[in-house]
Amino acid sequence: LSASPTDVFCSRLQALVDTDSPSGGIAQESVAEQVAAWLVPAGCTQRWVDEPDNPARSLILTLAGDGGPMVALLGHPDTVFPAGTATRWRFRREGNRCTGPGVADMKGGLVLAAMAVERLAAMPARPFSELRLLVCADEEIRLRAPAACEAARGSAAALVFECGRRNGDLVSARKGALWRTLHLHGRPAHAGADTALGRSAVSALAHEVLRIEGLADGRPDMTSVVTTVSGGDAANTVPGHAEATIDIRSAMAADLDFAEAELGRPGSYEGVTAQLSDHGTWPAMPVAAELVASALAHARAVGLAIGTECSGGVSDGCWTGRWGIPTLDGLGPVGGDDHTEAEWIEVATLEQRLELTVRLVGSICAYRPRGA
Ligand SMILES: [Zn+2]
Repeated sequence: LSASPTDVFCSRLQALVDTDSPSGGIAQESVAEQVAAWLVPAGCTQRWVDEPDNPARSLILTLAGDGGPMVALLGHPDTVFPAGTATRWRFRREGNRCTGPGVADMKGGLVLAAMAVERLAAMPARPFSELRLLVCADEEIRLRAPAACEAARGSAAALVFECGRRNGDLVSARKGALWRTLHLHGRPAHAGADTALGRSAVSALAHEVLRIEGLADGRPDMTSVVTTVSGGDAANTVPGHAEATIDIRSAMAADLDFAEAELGRPGSYEGVTAQLSDHGTWPAMPVAAELVASALAHARAVGLAIGTECSGGVSDGCWTGRWGIPTLDGLGPVGGDDHTEAEWIEVATLEQRLELTVRLVGSICAYRPRGA
């Protein structure tokens, strides 16, 4: 009596979910090691990649094929939950619903991707040069592309296994974001006795708030919000310093490039200097129309009535999308409530979504892109 794919999925997911893997630590490497323990027997080779910003390494699992394009599959082993979470909050399956830390974000997606690689490995023909599963460390806290993502360059497509939306939709686009803090320095002075000697950083900030929020004018896909402001030392002193945090987002890469350039060109305020500090830039993930059409056609063929959405959140698919690699996300199991203890996935459609990925890889290889 052999176990169903859904049962295999759930027992593997239990092993990953019951392993603590907080961002910033090296425990997440043991999640990647468990994925390797499934895929090396299927014929994959493994390579660890050092990441410059954090101690944990990423893992690349490669399945060699018979020739054709390369296809990249992306996931991450870290979760937002601290060490010790998995000892008090274990994996649970009740019918078609699974819960536990990281089931949706994104251990369920890692297991699904690994099972797709196994299925493709077992097929009589492998119409790709290489299939590369990138298990990219510290996705939840990184502020730039993982070093391991370099292994996706040159691939015909990047498939990302963050969970599907709660209605089953795939994620065809993601907004990118700029996070910055603006620091203004003027000259403090007694507000009554030495007023003319002072240079108000708060006054300059007031102008900058309007200038920065105005950057979104005429750009319907973009938002530009000054999210916090502070400044000054005392109620009777011309304020010598002020600062503001800024959150700018757009689905259009051109908007973010424009905003970044404009943030670096503050207005001129006599005696006040401006400095920006960088809290991260995530590029937008653009729609890959041919890949989306192919995925939706396969979805219909396997009996899934789903569509696609643009998400305001970021993933490592933003990097591959930025590099011009057609990228599609949300290929993991259906789930939701990420980053909370209500996190869940459902496995009623698991086998259809697994089959969708297997067929999608096949048709990516049939595109013969890039002159191949
Ligand atoms: Zn995630």
